Amino acid sequence: MAGKKPSLQLVPPSEPDALEKTRQRVRATPRPDGMLQCNRCGSRTVLNTENGVTVKNGRRQAGTKIETDVCADCYKRGVIVTMQPALKPTN
Ligand SMILES: [Zn+2]
Repeated sequence: MAGKKPSLQLVPPSEPDALEKTRQRVRATPRPDGMLQCNRCGSRTVLNTENGVTVKNGRRQAGTKIETDVCADCYKRGVIVTMQPALKPTN
């Protein structure tokens, strides 16, 4: 085993690219107290999904809530991120 290179090794984190730098800048901007914001991309667009919504006599009747307070921009990319009222450290 002596002299053999290990199959797994730690890699130091790389410098953030332009997109990640933009995400970091957006996440760091001040926001109104209590406003929901995505901890991953910085978006403030909230998505709620319901199953089984019906319309009877012109009135909408609620269905079963599936997702609440999910980032809409991350959801479009296939990632479900619950929005946070305060920024949490990612590392
Ligand atoms: Zn997001």
